Amino acid sequence: MTPPHVDADAGFFFSAGSMEALAGKIVMQYQRVAMPPQNLAKTVARYNSFVDAGEDADFGKPTPLHKIEQPPFYAAWATPVVHDARAGLRINARCRVVDTNGEIIPGLYCGGESAGGLSMHGLPRAICQGFIAGRNAAAERSNV
Ligand SMILES: Cc1cc2nc3c(=O)[nH]c(=O)nc-3n(C[C@H](O)[C@H](O)[C@H](O)COP(=O)(O)OP(=O)(O)OC[C@H]3O[C@@H](n4cnc5c(N)ncnc54)[C@H](O)[C@@H]3O)c2cc1C
Repeated sequence: MTPPHVDADAGFFFSAGSMEALAGKIVMQYQRVAMPPQNLAKTVARYNSFVDAGEDADFGKPTPLHKIEQPPFYAAWATPVVHDARAGLRINARCRVVDTNGEIIPGLYCGGESAGGLSMHGLPRAICQGFIAGRNAAAERSNV
């Protein structure tokens, strides 16, 4: 069986007849340390024991019902990606940067990913704060 929407050719999806063989296949260029095959086999055996016990002692999954025991076995790479940063320079409503005492740092504006806070997300944050910062910086300059 070939599951749909997986990229086996590029090395993101694997299948094998045993857990040990599957662990040996899960290798890619960005992986610093290869998974020892026995680790995957032990982890799956432990999970299967939770099905027998009727209780997941590791993560508290309610009523584990199905053992992982019928080959073929599959593995897929899933990599987390950071979409937005919440840390950054502290700004006020005019996108002026303020220091740790809450004092404005003259002439310094900031918005988007380089600004801290949770007021908005993603591109709208970058666009709105860029607009606000640019408008206020231009007004400040014309007042000099
Ligand atoms: C995978 C992914 C998916 C996303 N999907 C969405 C989405 O669906 N919708 C949404 O709204 N947002 C999404 N976001 C978030 C959105 O892309 C960002 O919030 C937005 O692009 C931030 O814009 P920015 O201008 O603040 O920063 P950036 O886009 O990071 O721009 C900063 C720029 O500064 C340049 N730079 C850095 N250092 C220097 C330097 N020293 N000198 C000169 N230039 C420098 C960088 O090369 C870069 O071009 C996504 C982000 C990621 C990573």
